[in-house]
Amino acid sequence: MAFGSARLRRQGQVSGSPCRGIDLSVTLASMEAHPSLWKRCSTCKKEIAFTSVHWVCNVSTCNRTRTALAFCSVACWDAHVPMLRHREAWAEERRAPTRAEWERQQRAAEAKERRRSRR
Ligand SMILES: [Zn+2]
Ligand SMILES: [Zn+2]
Repeated sequence: MAFGSARLRRQGQVSGSPCRGIDLSVTLASMEAHPSLWKRCSTCKKEIAFTSVHWVCNVSTCNRTRTALAFCSVACWDAHVPMLRHREAWAEERRAPTRAEWERQQRAAEAKERRRSRR
């Protein structure tokens, strides 16, 4: 959010520039600003980059493909435990996939879902 508003303010100072298309340019710019973004930490929303080490919850409901939680640190993992009322839980260290691996996984998951909805 701070990123978007900073950009808008800077653009406002340029005299004579058209206002149309600002939303689009902000969207594009923010996408380009995170080329390595894989996921955001489920607690603090910090970026977790492709191939970086992060933490996941051992509880199966936290690891469903659609809602899989990922945490940037054990402290962030720790913060979600009381929220979801886990009785027995531990954090597992994981390495994020590469961008190519991730895109392949996404395509595979989409294909599976399409097959399922056709039935
Ligand atoms: Zn975090
Ligand atoms: Zn959990």
